[in-house]
Amino acid sequence: GRIGQSAFRSLILSAANNRRIQAMADRHGLEAGADRFVAGETLVDAMRVIERLRDDGMRTYVIALGEAIHSRQGAAAAADLYEQLIPDVAARGPGTTFSIKLTHLGIELDRDLALGHARRIISRAAEHAAFVRLDMEHSAVVDDTLAIYRALRSDGLDNTGIVLQAYLHRSLDDLIGLLPLEPNVRVVKGAYLEPPGVALQRKSHVDVAYNQLARTALSHAKFTAVATHDAQAIRAAAAVAQRTGADFEFQMLYGVRYALAQQMVARGHAVRICVPFGKDWFVYFTRRLAERPSNVLFLARNLGRR
Ligand code: FAD
Repeated sequence: GRIGQSAFRSLILSAANNRRIQAMADRHGLEAGADRFVAGETLVDAMRVIERLRDDGMRTYVIALGEAIHSRQGAAAAADLYEQLIPDVAARGPGTTFSIKLTHLGIELDRDLALGHARRIISRAAEHAAFVRLDMEHSAVVDDTLAIYRALRSDGLDNTGIVLQAYLHRSLDDLIGLLPLEPNVRVVKGAYLEPPGVALQRKSHVDVAYNQLARTALSHAKFTAVATHDAQAIRAAAAVAQRTGADFEFQMLYGVRYALAQQMVARGHAVRICVPFGKDWFVYFTRRLAERPSNVLFLARNLGRR
């Protein structure tokens, strides 16, 4: 039920911040079941998954997993990692794009620090004709994330895009405000735990808001990534796109509803799969668990089997 679902999300998402639970997950490693959602700990693992997906007709994007950074050194190291990663992936997997999380680049420490790192990464990507999207994170960083996006675009960096979360009350206004920039927008439902003042709480309301946000993007944005595993939302978006002639693709996460992704490719749609990799996979993994109660049973079975 509705209440069950949101209590479940709170429980799992707050467990993600618990050090002891995190230490337990580290001991069990990716074998605890995270390898269903994460390509592996290294770039070699990610490239293997990218090649397999490409054989199935899928586009891909890469995200290097990391945790929120609390030092300038950590932020610089995360930026260095991407600067090395981009030329490597661009050479071996042409057409692969990237996502970055600004919390990894220090946005919570200093917005201009994160802007500087993002500018460096996205300029390097431009040299390789690669595209880098700024993921959207918890609501406290949305204003700064949008400000960084605007600053990058006014620097002339057009190989970047943004994400808008349908559960936030503000997102439709944010989209409308961005339209003069001819943005490349990914539309998602939203993965974080947010209070009622900030975000819709009922799944049915989020579903309605998602369709509206996607419809608006598909009607007016330069490019829309419809990122969802919701078959109803996918059907609705495909119908809108046909009417508006939108430039768009579907996006899904590695390990989630792959049969649906294959179905959309078979129907002639472009589908891009998010391929996450890295040592800091735990927080990403818990967000995926929180999206579906049965995922936790799956985890419990895997831990039990060891
Ligand atoms: P739902 O209605 O939640 O799911 C539809 C169906 O898909 C479910 O019934 C279930 O069968 C299946 N499903 C969905 N999730 C899972 C799962 N984890 N495990 C197993 N089955 C599942 N969120 C952000 O806040 N910021 C971002 O930048 C961001 N980027 C994203 C990029 C991509 C490519 C995708 C696909 C999602 C992204 N998200 C992001 C997550 C998003 O906000 C949702 O939390 C997530 O996509 C689940 O919602 P849904 O749209 O798939 O719809």
